[in-house]
Amino acid sequence: MVNYKDLGLVNTREIFAKAMQGGYAIPAFNFNNMEQMQAIIQACVAQKSPVILQVSQGARKYASSTLLRYMAEGAVEYSRELGYEIPIVLHLDHGDSFELCKSCIEYGFSSVMIDGSHLPYEENIALTKQVVDYAHQYDVTVEGELGVLAGVEDEVSAENSTYTKAEDVEDFVKKTGVDSLAISIGTSHGANKFRPEQCTRNAEGVLVPPPLRFDILAEIEKRIPGFPIVLHGSSSVPQDQVAIINKYGGIMKDAIGIP
Ligand SMILES: [Zn+2]
Repeated sequence: MVNYKDLGLVNTREIFAKAMQGGYAIPAFNFNNMEQMQAIIQACVAQKSPVILQVSQGARKYASSTLLRYMAEGAVEYSRELGYEIPIVLHLDHGDSFELCKSCIEYGFSSVMIDGSHLPYEENIALTKQVVDYAHQYDVTVEGELGVLAGVEDEVSAENSTYTKAEDVEDFVKKTGVDSLAISIGTSHGANKFRPEQCTRNAEGVLVPPPLRFDILAEIEKRIPGFPIVLHGSSSVPQDQVAIINKYGGIMKDAIGIP
């Protein structure tokens, strides 16, 4: 068992509390290798921003849990060397079982996500609570999810997104004891945010994706004021960047985002 505190990592509790107070967001970036980690730390040190370094199941298979742990430990030292020690969280992204979350905690993760959003509501609560009960023994924080995001992330893919039901959030947070909650308001995973058939066309014939549901976000904030909310994926696909990718040999079609 490796304790994340011995690696110089932190959980999300304090950084989220400070972010709520200060009115800013904390970025979470997935990494699979040293070069990505380097770029993430350089950018966050430059901005003096705390950061969530997150690992998907695929990254864990690709890079090995042991190497990822030493890279995260190295990231702490690296930020110090760059002149500003930022709080760094090592987080499991979209964990799909208790066993996986437990294993990550044993390998030195300071935070885990248990994504039971595809399960029936009561089963999502039971699984999330099981992870919370285990994780909190080691002061590891837990992110849960309500509502399904569209798109592909690693091995987890969802054909259709279902917006989070605002009326469920208080009950879910209370019954599970989670430290943060991922919700679905229309952001999406992956490079190709929306398929043409999910969009409508405007008067000029340009495809327009479904709008982000900020009304749901506002309603959730009213029901659980001050509770850390997580938004996965993103909404926009900058068309100039799509053009650059295609110009240099990439093949990226139908990359539709909210401008
Ligand atoms: Zn995600």
